[in-house]
Amino acid sequence: MKLHEYQSKFRFAEYGIPIPRGKVASTPEEAHAIALEIGGPVVIKAQVLVGGRGKAGGVKLAKTADEAEQHARQILGMDIKGLTVKKVLIDPASEIKDEIYLGLTTDRAARRIVMMASAAGGVDIEEVAAKTPEKIIKVHIEPLLGLRDYQARDIANGIGLSRKNWQQFISIAKALYRCYVANDASLAEINPLIVDGNGELLAVDGKMVIDDSALFRHEDLVNMRDLSEETPAETEAREIGLAYIKLDGDIGCMVNGAGLAMTTMDIIKLYGGEPANFLDTAGGADADKVAEAFHIILSDPDVKAVLVNIFGGITRCDEVAKGILDAMSEVEVTVPIVIRLVGTNEQEGKRLLADANLETATTLAEAAQKAVRAADTATHN
Ligand code: GDP
Ligand code: MN
Repeated sequence: MKLHEYQSKFRFAEYGIPIPRGKVASTPEEAHAIALEIGGPVVIKAQVLVGGRGKAGGVKLAKTADEAEQHARQILGMDIKGLTVKKVLIDPASEIKDEIYLGLTTDRAARRIVMMASAAGGVDIEEVAAKTPEKIIKVHIEPLLGLRDYQARDIANGIGLSRKNWQQFISIAKALYRCYVANDASLAEINPLIVDGNGELLAVDGKMVIDDSALFRHEDLVNMRDLSEETPAETEAREIGLAYIKLDGDIGCMVNGAGLAMTTMDIIKLYGGEPANFLDTAGGADADKVAEAFHIILSDPDVKAVLVNIFGGITRCDEVAKGILDAMSEVEVTVPIVIRLVGTNEQEGKRLLADANLETATTLAEAAQKAVRAADTATHN
């Protein structure tokens, strides 16, 4: 679950990270009142769950409250990368002397949380990582010790931060680490952390992603979830307990088990296709779940073909086949479907599908090839 900039920064502030003392507005009039209260120049910032708002025109400076209101009127309702702006953050504007990147994420390969920092802050960090990786300093954190002062000092030194900011930097880095751990985050990022006009460090932008698996112990965070920022399919999937992630390709995937889902995606790519989604029906793939999963996959207009890959263990293949047939009578299926059922009661399952004239496959390779071909044909017709 992603948090908005203001939610992330307010949370950072609870751990002692300095942030501009701004407020959120949903109307231009509110923006005016907040700007008046702040007094002096302000920055108006679109609150949408994507990066690069600055470049998209979602971050504007204003000298007066009237100007702030005008910018807010323009930004509210704006479309940024497919998301509609519903709220703006009004922060006192800062003079920026320097922009630093500071972030934490989990490095699975190292089995450690890693702190990353760069003097090339403000801009897209993915771009820095791709073009000039040497500009990013990384430090892995020993979980039993936490982030040590010397590690934070090494980072400050590594990004060439002026010595007089080191003490403050260390305290911010440690606060960010505490915040990351306490909130079960998978990402906590300040970009930019600036050196302001007074030579002080200030977190001007913030981003946090919370591990969904830990949300059960963060009721306060769950309540912050912004449903309007999720695609309807993602919301629907979450509510019925399906793991669904939309991707860029055109082959819809319905698979039971995350490992098998990953394998299915890999094999689609091996045969030159691109998966349209990751979907794990999780546990029993009964008729209702299969129908819901179909509904979600087919609601994606990018889907040109569907590949169903079910391994019957405790789940019986004939049950799944019935589920598929039920689902197809409930949901209008307009794209070709390739089904691979393997495992318990496989023969019964296949017979049911064959009776209904559905395309089946025996091996995963065959299923993937058929799905890729079907998607290609649909695209070129
Ligand atoms: P993002 O584009 O979504 O990452 O949004 P940011 O909050 O990072 O803002 C983008 C850029 O706008 C920053 O890198 C700054 O250069 C600029 N910016 C943001 N806040 C201020 C501010 O208070 N004063 C000034 N002068 N520039 C700002
Ligand atoms: Mn930013």
